[in-house]
Amino acid sequence: MKPPPLRIHRPTSIDQTLDLLSEHSVSGKVLAGGQSLVPVLNMRLAAPSDLIDITGVSGLDELTVSGPEGQQEIAVGATVTHRQVERSVDIARANPLLAEALRFVAHPAVRNRGTTVGSLAHADPNGEMPMILALTGGSVDVRSRRGIRTLSAEELNVGPLETCLESDELITRAIFPALPAGSRAGFDELARRSGDYGLAGVGMIVDVEDETVTGLRCGFISVTDIPEVLDLGEVVSGTQIDEVAGVVSRVVDAVRDFIDPGGDIHATADYRRHLAGVIASRLFRRLCRTDNARIQGAQVHTAGNDAGNGTDTGADAGSGTGKGIENDTGRRRA
Ligand SMILES: Cc1cc2nc3c(=O)[nH]c(=O)nc-3n(C[C@H](O)[C@H](O)[C@H](O)COP(=O)(O)OP(=O)(O)OC[C@H]3O[C@@H](n4cnc5c(N)ncnc54)[C@H](O)[C@@H]3O)c2cc1C
Repeated sequence: MKPPPLRIHRPTSIDQTLDLLSEHSVSGKVLAGGQSLVPVLNMRLAAPSDLIDITGVSGLDELTVSGPEGQQEIAVGATVTHRQVERSVDIARANPLLAEALRFVAHPAVRNRGTTVGSLAHADPNGEMPMILALTGGSVDVRSRRGIRTLSAEELNVGPLETCLESDELITRAIFPALPAGSRAGFDELARRSGDYGLAGVGMIVDVEDETVTGLRCGFISVTDIPEVLDLGEVVSGTQIDEVAGVVSRVVDAVRDFIDPGGDIHATADYRRHLAGVIASRLFRRLCRTDNARIQGAQVHTAGNDAGNGTDTGADAGSGTGKGIENDTGRRRA
């Protein structure tokens, strides 16, 4: 199918974009990379009268890492593609979790067109970026003719595929904070085929001081309606990193209690719940390995699938998606 007839506007400035969004607020839509919107239009799940294509708008292509060491912020403009973010060495240093999760977003062809901010606006609970924004405490800057506001991930996401954005509002950029010094972070998911959305996925940040775990936060894809963060600091704090085997089962139980997966033709709710626990178990063990220290500014960071390693809590999850990177620790590359 193809979309019904519509008008496409190609503004070149933010001011023109905001005027067009205000003028067509009843039935206009922002078009960024089109990787989510165009399929929706083709399937006639939405039928806007006007598309406002922002890809030629100047001032939306910011991709910077700024701020003092330890408090750096990554700014990702609305037209910056997933691939540009993924390939930035500065971003991989400041927030390796963001770079790692991006490699699980679809295929390179989609990442070449799709924008990271578009993912946030699309608010798909199966998407990696909304979860990473929530887990790392990020925010988005939003503009309309009525003003400017900054929204946390919690404020932005109100339901599956639903944000609090008004129809005349444009996200101009997303801000992802750098990971704190001493933190270890990772993401993993399991999908039926490489490039598919994950059946379940977990992002994790472990805080470590003097070989002792002091904090643990998890975010999830495909098993919660909106990106919620599970803080397991109380469960793990005070555990020596070489003794985490003793608390893994409590982490897994807490994850399985917290999530609320649905079942569909791809996987039952029970299987997704099981999977999220297995992935969390593997990630936690991997991040707490003594050879996996992440030092601010000179990271030695594990990334990609680890589905074949470690002792699981629960039955085997099967093999990973095959997406992942080979890094300093010698793993696979996408
Ligand atoms: C085959 C395939 C596989 C995919 N697999 C994955 C995957 O595994 N994980 C994943 O996370 N994603 C996946 N995606 C989606 C992909 O990440 C998209 O890039 C992303 O969801 C949307 O970005 P976009 O720039 O293409 O936005 P568009 O499709 O242009 O827009 C998406 C929505 O966001 C709105 N929007 C876009 N930009 C703004 C803005 N600046 N301000 C306000 N509203 C805005 C649009 O109006 C629209 O409603 C996949 C897509 C395809 C086609």
